[in-house]
Amino acid sequence: MSGRVCSKCPRILTDGSTICVWCKREKDRARGTSTQRGYGSAHQAERARWQAKIDAGEEVACTRCWRQILPGTPWDLGHSDSRTFYTGPEHATCNRSAAGKHAAALRNR
Ligand SMILES: [Zn+2]
Ligand SMILES: [Zn+2]
Repeated sequence: MSGRVCSKCPRILTDGSTICVWCKREKDRARGTSTQRGYGSAHQAERARWQAKIDAGEEVACTRCWRQILPGTPWDLGHSDSRTFYTGPEHATCNRSAAGKHAAALRNR
C-alpha cells in the first residue's frame, strides 16, 4: 500500500485513509461554518451583511413585495434565475409563494 495519495491533493497518505489530515481539517472547518449545505461562503457573507442591516433596524425592503423586512422575520436571499448575482433579501413567505405561483403557472399552461 505505497504511493496512495489524498483524494483532494497530491500528498502521500501513510495511515490508510483516503484523505490527508490537512484536507480533512479543511473539510471539517467548511462544514462547521456553513449552516446550510449547498450554499457557498459568498452566499453566507452576503446573508450576514443583510442580516446585520435588518438587525440594526435599517429599512431593508423585500425585493418581491417591497415592504420592509422587520428584525426577527424569516427571510431568504434571492438570486437571479441564472444564479450569477444576488437580487437581495426577500421575505421567506414571499419567496415561497413566488415559487408556488410559478409552479401553478407551469401547470396551467
Ligand atoms: Zn489532502
Ligand atoms: Zn415580501
